[in-house]
Amino acid sequence: MLIGRRYRLKLDFGQAAYAERTAGICRAVWNAALDQRRAAAQLNRGRTEDRAVWPSFASQCRELAQAKRTEPWLGEAPSHCLQQTLRDLDKACRQHGVWRVRWRGKRRWEPSFRFPDATQIGEARRLGRHLGAVRLPKLGNVRFRWSRPLAGTVRNVTVQRDGRHWHITFCVENHLAESAPNGQPPVGIDRGVVIPVAASDGQCFEGVGMRPGEQRRLGHLQRRLAHQRKGSNRRRRTVRAIGRVYERVRNRRADFCHQTAHTLTTEHGLVVVEDLRVKHMTASAKGTVVEWHGRKNGCGIIAVPAAYTSQTCSVCGHVAAESRESQARFCCQACGHQAKADVNAAQNILALGLRASGRGGVGVGPPMKRQPPEREVARAAD
Ligand SMILES: [Zn+2]
Repeated sequence: MLIGRRYRLKLDFGQAAYAERTAGICRAVWNAALDQRRAAAQLNRGRTEDRAVWPSFASQCRELAQAKRTEPWLGEAPSHCLQQTLRDLDKACRQHGVWRVRWRGKRRWEPSFRFPDATQIGEARRLGRHLGAVRLPKLGNVRFRWSRPLAGTVRNVTVQRDGRHWHITFCVENHLAESAPNGQPPVGIDRGVVIPVAASDGQCFEGVGMRPGEQRRLGHLQRRLAHQRKGSNRRRRTVRAIGRVYERVRNRRADFCHQTAHTLTTEHGLVVVEDLRVKHMTASAKGTVVEWHGRKNGCGIIAVPAAYTSQTCSVCGHVAAESRESQARFCCQACGHQAKADVNAAQNILALGLRASGRGGVGVGPPMKRQPPEREVARAAD
């Protein structure tokens, strides 16, 4: 099983400058290669399929090698990192199409580059209780905070900057198979605005978001920013301070996601999540985080359509928008069942999930108007 191990790098001044430079060159290569592919797409518009000419990964690598002769600055970056950039672009274009792949803007893109070849990477050594080091091509020996063991063989290494800190991510093969099912009971979860994550057994996970002190500080900094001259050093300092506030919030949210996902997948054998189309509700990375923890802890994950789960009674199945008294309370108009709105929704999601996974058919189903009779008949025939 491939796992990721991420550590905070402790680059010295020269290394940080070199990392920034390398990422900048990778960005330039990405943009130039994407430009080339888009130009080709425009040329191909009038042509039939068999006469279309596309740049490939191999042809772009050849052109990169030629370009290095006239543009020596390209050679400053490790060549494997540049090739990896072209490979990533090739993959992205195949998957999403040339027009959907984005430019890497200086402001919008978090600088990163990858060393794809494990033979070029030195062995990661532990130097002290909280200190590790690894030798990377051209960067030399880089030190990082040894916060956990590597636990496996390194396949490749990615260096990236997240805000003001550089991190190193080792892709590690841990020689373990995916965990067998853990045999725990199933659970449904509802992701909401009032409570970030509510489980069908009544557990609620809360405590993320910006704290009052942080909100005050952010407001203060934004007011200060409003009357600072563009391009000035003071303005840049304020922008950095704002970035630090957001960084804390981001880290806290990521930590919450991992802890919640770990708890849910160790205490349960099946987690049913709603298949939300609105990603901005809370924690967009939630889905992938849960899946990763699920694989590790032997817990299945399934997604079900979220329609009407917040308006359906989990006891009698009655659907009414009025049952949802407020954001927080649910009170059934038909049978008088009362519950926390999010927990009620989570119970509906669990019932949908059990039905979808074939673990149980009885219980609350989706509302009648979502379940046309002919489909019921088809299912009974199965
Ligand atoms: Zn009811």
